Amino acid sequence: MALRLLLDKLSYYLEVKEVRRVERAYVFAEKCHEGQLRQSGDPYITHPLAVAHILADMHMDHESLMAAMLHDVIEDTGVTKGQISRRFGRPVADLVDGVSKLTGIEFQSKAEQQAESFQKMTLAMSRDIRVVLVKLADRLHNMRTLGVLSPAKRRRIARETLDIYAPIAQRLGINDIRLELENLGFAAMYPLRHRRLREAMKAAKKNRKEVVAEIHQSMEVRLDQEKVEATVKSREKHLWSIYRKMREKKRSFRDIMDVFAFRLIVTSVDDCYRTLGMIHNMFKPVPGEFKDYIAIPKANGYQSLHTVLVGMHGVVIEVQIRTVEMEAMASYGIAAHWEYKAGRQTADVNQRRAARWIQGLLEMQQQAGDSLEFLEHVKADLFPDEVYVFTPNGKIIELPGSATPIDFAYSVHTGLGNSCIACRVDGQLTPLSEQLESGQRVEIISAAEAQPNPNWLNFVVTAKARSAIRLPKESAA
Ligand code: MN
Repeated sequence: MALRLLLDKLSYYLEVKEVRRVERAYVFAEKCHEGQLRQSGDPYITHPLAVAHILADMHMDHESLMAAMLHDVIEDTGVTKGQISRRFGRPVADLVDGVSKLTGIEFQSKAEQQAESFQKMTLAMSRDIRVVLVKLADRLHNMRTLGVLSPAKRRRIARETLDIYAPIAQRLGINDIRLELENLGFAAMYPLRHRRLREAMKAAKKNRKEVVAEIHQSMEVRLDQEKVEATVKSREKHLWSIYRKMREKKRSFRDIMDVFAFRLIVTSVDDCYRTLGMIHNMFKPVPGEFKDYIAIPKANGYQSLHTVLVGMHGVVIEVQIRTVEMEAMASYGIAAHWEYKAGRQTADVNQRRAARWIQGLLEMQQQAGDSLEFLEHVKADLFPDEVYVFTPNGKIIELPGSATPIDFAYSVHTGLGNSCIACRVDGQLTPLSEQLESGQRVEIISAAEAQPNPNWLNFVVTAKARSAIRLPKESAA
């Protein structure tokens, strides 16, 4: 039974009592979803269970696993956050609530430039980064089981996955999930192109087999001679990245397939550079293609050496060299830095864990030379200080933290701010002084003869609102 399998998996890295709490969450969720079926006809509980499996493979902590079990009960069964909190504790209830809120926002793909704002909004709404990880796992399982939905629904979810969720996985450095989301998204968005490309790929693979084996072996022999402990992997290009290259860089399929990609995994940073020297000694490096992401990691923490070489018969060989830890980091990103200490379960601690991840990135960067700007970049990526709210027709407005409906009105249009008399937030009449939160839908009620109220100066935070309230006539002109 799938639950047994999960509990076995968990017992490798969680404590007995933590595994038991996950099991209790499962039992509760099963009862809540009783009688509900997925579109595939499977009992609903198979979905949260599968989501938990994905998180278990990433070795996430027991609270994330419990939240995975319960992530759809608020949305689909009418259980309240308070009930979850009493039964399983506040941190789990907060996680479930956070995931439900993300599920609630509708992505309208009208404007592609909105995608980036959506990504930021998603991160802003999940002050605990585990909310994003549960949501990514939820989306991954939904993508794996997309087949049973109507074509229109399939396309909408696939679009959202490619525009919002795959890039978020990338920001967090979780490459395994990103690649699978992209390939599933590609297959659902463009089924014909996907199939054709997959077939072309299969055919090409046959032709390439001998060359791949030859390069592979020559590298292994050399590493052995130099007594470097290493694993050589030949790397398959992913269909979505091939497709994107063809479309964006206007390159032909054959051009792309002419490149042979390998990854060498070694045990230490020293060995990375030694191996690089060896490889450059075996094949001729292509000038300008060498990149040292070990000394200067990418913003999401990715580390590796990249180089491109010309091999025997003139074939182009791409090589990535990295340590075992860097490989784990590239696959699981922020999740690879999780800690499983029992008994410290406040949101605060989780936040500190995420902060420590950022700290880790900063240290890597400092070893490389620089800089505060880097930290600011990563921090802003993960926990933006801005709030992101919707206009009634779905446009996203970005505002500084603690902005109010008045700030919102002025940022849409000065005239709207000046004539504002009331507002609705998520359909509810709300005081104009109330601070907005990411994901809310804000509707301003206006009257032509209204005037800005000087009292607004007590709570507005944007310069635009402030100066317009002080000088209503000039700014209205
Ligand atoms: Mn779900």
